Amino acid sequence: MDQIRPFPPTDLIDQAEEEDAIRLAPAVELKDWVIKNFLTLGGELHNPDHDHIAELLHDDETFLAFAWASSACMAKKRMVLGQCEKVMFNQGGWKKARQEQQMRDWFGYIPVYLITIDASFCENSNDRDFCTLIEHELYHIGVERDEDGEIIYSDHTGLPKHHLAAHDVEEFIGVVKRWGANENVQRLVEVAKQAPFVSEKNIAACCGTCLIN
Ligand SMILES: [Zn+2]
Repeated sequence: MDQIRPFPPTDLIDQAEEEDAIRLAPAVELKDWVIKNFLTLGGELHNPDHDHIAELLHDDETFLAFAWASSACMAKKRMVLGQCEKVMFNQGGWKKARQEQQMRDWFGYIPVYLITIDASFCENSNDRDFCTLIEHELYHIGVERDEDGEIIYSDHTGLPKHHLAAHDVEEFIGVVKRWGANENVQRLVEVAKQAPFVSEKNIAACCGTCLIN
């Protein structure tokens, strides 16, 4: 079976190396693949946690867009392989116009959220690591919930209210070592003990890598 998961354009990384700079490119086919597999009922990797994203996309395709970056970047001395941002141009005038033009030239619209993925990582990563990275970024688009866990809908649009979500768990190993696991770390440990929900079969079905039996 051929690889059917989206791969970055082959010239992106070469061109970036030539220019000794990071190059970016729209990843329209990646968005289509994510919608089909993660955000559609019955999709191989469908996760109801993201149904609110699907609902927003169903109403307005400009809600989300994807881009490839030719290589990882460094932030807080860590390698960043993916990034989810709420698209905001703070400056006005020509700076804002130029940034908005870039989005329109790439996608035909200005997205509400933009997920950027390291192309060089994706070129070499296995299917599970690739899917894990994509889903990590999707989880950064959070939905507002009330005390009972029900989704809060906007009075204005009638759609789920969303925000850029922080990680569920952020802790230093040294702190856990010295002081023990807090509630969130304990939850993570419990979940990590279970076998992963997504099977190799699911991954093979939408990424196209042969299963080794
Ligand atoms: Zn993250």
